[in-house]
Amino acid sequence: MKIETLGVIGAGTMGAGIAQVAAVAGLKVIMIDVADAALTKGIAALSNSLGRLVAKGKLEAAVQDAALGRIETSTDYQRLAGANLVIEAATENLDLKIRILKQIESVVAPTAMIASNTSSISITTLGAALSDPARFVGMHFFNPVPLMPLVEIIRGLQTSAATAEAIRELTTQLGKSPISVKNSPGFVVNRILVPMINEAFFLLAEGAATAEEIDAGMCLGANHPIGPLALADLVGLDVCLSVMDVYLKDFGDTKYRACPLLRELVSAGRLGRKTGHGVYSYA
Ligand code: NAD
Repeated sequence: MKIETLGVIGAGTMGAGIAQVAAVAGLKVIMIDVADAALTKGIAALSNSLGRLVAKGKLEAAVQDAALGRIETSTDYQRLAGANLVIEAATENLDLKIRILKQIESVVAPTAMIASNTSSISITTLGAALSDPARFVGMHFFNPVPLMPLVEIIRGLQTSAATAEAIRELTTQLGKSPISVKNSPGFVVNRILVPMINEAFFLLAEGAATAEEIDAGMCLGANHPIGPLALADLVGLDVCLSVMDVYLKDFGDTKYRACPLLRELVSAGRLGRKTGHGVYSYA
């Protein structure tokens, strides 16, 4: 099925980014949020992002104008009726997402597909809340969406092959590079990334090296653009901790035990850049 009209739920960091890339790729986009203020903020964020791309010569001004003209905003889910695909990118909360997915399913055509951009909730669990889980799939974009090429396409237990294939094609059409993953905690990237960050906290706690040296080691020796501890500060130490706790619970394997130092910093409120202090201090 050709996807011409895309619904996006949530006008936050990810929703606005997804709306932006889809509109640039020529899709008509309907972006939904709970309040007009959130929609205004989302449009401002994506307009700024488009403006920066134009200023850098990466996008033509005419394309920017046309893209903005293809995005409609609303607080009314009924506006999604004509969408071929709706991507849910609302706040990370299981009950909220299930409510939203049911709401989407009640409005769209039976042939429309539904996706979630969740980073940690099981696609199989979310799909099971729908009356037709075959048309439901995970579509995990990375932040910032306009710049990051990867999209993980996650097949829940009941996702049909046709749905996964259609979403893979769309991802390419959006100028992104898909990888296909079977539903599993953390999918691929976060499953590797977050335990690596956790291991860096163990090294720091053991006094094996300073934070600066651990980060320099991974930048200079593994060619990472940012060290694991600086990355933890960027992502949020609380987010890293809760992801490790999910892996420990879901896999029942102690290799996913969170480093006590990570837990201690979170308890102290040192969550990283967002609180001005994590591993490093951001005065
Ligand atoms: P965000 O807080 O920036 O935005 C969430 C938006 O959802 C808010 O504008 C909120 O008003 C809106 N919302 C809440 N309830 C809603 C409802 N019932 N209907 C419509 N909109 C509603 O969050 P975000 O960082 O954009 O994350 C969104 C999703 O993407 C989450 O599932 C998150 O796990 C996932 N994700 C985030 C990142 C990231 O780096 N931020 C990366 C990959 C995936």
